[in-house]
Amino acid sequence: MTKVIETVAEMRQISSALNKAGRQIGFVPTMGALHQGHETLLRRARTENEIVVLSIFVNQTQFNNADDFAKYPSTWQADLALAQKNQVDYILYPKYAEMYTDGYKYRVIENELSQLLCGKDRPGHFDGVLSVVMKLFNIVCPQKAYFGEKDFQQLQLIRGMVESFFLNIEIVPVPTVREKDGLAMSSRNMRLTSEQRAKAPRIHQIITASASPPEAREKLNNEGFVVDYVTDMFNRRFVAAYLGEVRLIDNVQI
Ligand code: AMP
Repeated sequence: MTKVIETVAEMRQISSALNKAGRQIGFVPTMGALHQGHETLLRRARTENEIVVLSIFVNQTQFNNADDFAKYPSTWQADLALAQKNQVDYILYPKYAEMYTDGYKYRVIENELSQLLCGKDRPGHFDGVLSVVMKLFNIVCPQKAYFGEKDFQQLQLIRGMVESFFLNIEIVPVPTVREKDGLAMSSRNMRLTSEQRAKAPRIHQIITASASPPEAREKLNNEGFVVDYVTDMFNRRFVAAYLGEVRLIDNVQI
């Protein structure tokens, strides 16, 4: 039975009791509009933990663009069904006021990697991400937390935060889940028109096939993408590009 928890106080009571009883908690934080990428994280958490907690919270502080926040997809009924199918024990589903009692006066800030790649185009984005993940970790008190390599920069920053603040949580990375045509699954894919959706897999194809970032950038430009960056780092190639209003990101090992 999946139980939906809307308050921080109730979730803290539950996690504290579970911790006391020595029951291992696996945690999957998300912004909802769940797809097979999220489902892969949940399945992994299900096999490795006694209790699985999923959070669904569209975290306003990580959106630098008000329109992107307003248009972020929400599919609550389908999300609930997916959670039930995957035997999630608890869904933490809080409102903004529950999570930000201080009005976001206190933040977790990293000042190196968070300024690069997506951080350049999205000022404050990773402050919002790290701050909400720190809050969620303190509410859910998991032993393990699952993050997708699709958001590789986010994964690295969370690993760094866990190390810097001596958090006793194992961060488990999960490889990117793709559509058959190679497009990385993303909640934002729902916002693509059918024409844009047909073009979107070119991102993965082009970054995989190009010899260098400038070559990939040029090919993407020629096919009508508005490229934010193509950069090689950490033995991987990272890309962010717009199709219309929708910003898509991807990364592959090189
Ligand atoms: P989001 O709801 O987009 O914030 O994502 C929640 C978690 O799911 C993050 O750890 C993401 O990296 C992960 N995730 C999203 N899409 C994918 C995907 N296609 N493959 C693997 N993990 C994903």
